[in-house]
Amino acid sequence: MLALPFWLVTICLFVLGAIIGSFLNVVIYRTVQEQSWIKGRSKCEFCQQKIAWYDNIPLLSFFFLKGKCRHCQQTIGFIHPVVEFLTGALFVWWYWGGFWFFRLTQHPFQTLQPLFWLLVGILLLIIFVADLRYLIIPDLAAGALLMITLLYRVSLTMMGVMQLRDLQLAVISSIIITIGFALLWLITKGKGFGLGDVKLVFPLGLLLGWPKILVGVFLAFFIGAITGIILISLKRKKFGQVIAFGPFLVLGTVLALIWGEVIWHGYLGFFK
Ligand SMILES: [Zn+2]
Repeated sequence: MLALPFWLVTICLFVLGAIIGSFLNVVIYRTVQEQSWIKGRSKCEFCQQKIAWYDNIPLLSFFFLKGKCRHCQQTIGFIHPVVEFLTGALFVWWYWGGFWFFRLTQHPFQTLQPLFWLLVGILLLIIFVADLRYLIIPDLAAGALLMITLLYRVSLTMMGVMQLRDLQLAVISSIIITIGFALLWLITKGKGFGLGDVKLVFPLGLLLGWPKILVGVFLAFFIGAITGIILISLKRKKFGQVIAFGPFLVLGTVLALIWGEVIWHGYLGFFK
């Protein structure tokens, strides 16, 4: 039986995550608008009216307001409560999964490793939403992901937790796949995907390592193609119209992080 404190911590972390998710919505919007993150109160994206605290409660306000601004009645994107919920869920996953899993790792990483994965989750969420909503992958988010991933993998290798060969393979495969993306970007003249996608591939490759990066990129193309076909057949998009690719890269990465090994061995199994 799991004790009461366990559930109390779970609820508190979900609420904390939802509050941070609410802040992430602001961070994403202000990053793409090139505004300061902390200056000024939250405003409606449409009528610029300040949002009162009681209209700014994560998850709840969206439903009380029926998804509309109190002042101008413009529809607030459904993505807002989704980001709040996902950030809350990320924090709960981090606690539930990390509670047992991270205890297996060695010291100083016992505290650093969980923090690293929480940060990675937040950064991936920012990239996912920013690209989906505004077709922009903020350099700041991709850069931060690169920095912490590099630090993480290099320090794990130096501590002997990871093999040097794995780090070398991760770097080399990431460079090759980045070059491949850059070539595709040049050939399609930025229509296939943006420069932001090219810049994102390297940190993702470093995060996943070899051969999971291959699984991640394959899944991104696969899910992207299926989504494209569905959107075109629903007449939501026309053939050749730009669809953000960043969200698929993020999705492929998350799936590859969880099931990368299984998928890779299943794939190799075909040739036996
Ligand atoms: Zn408004």
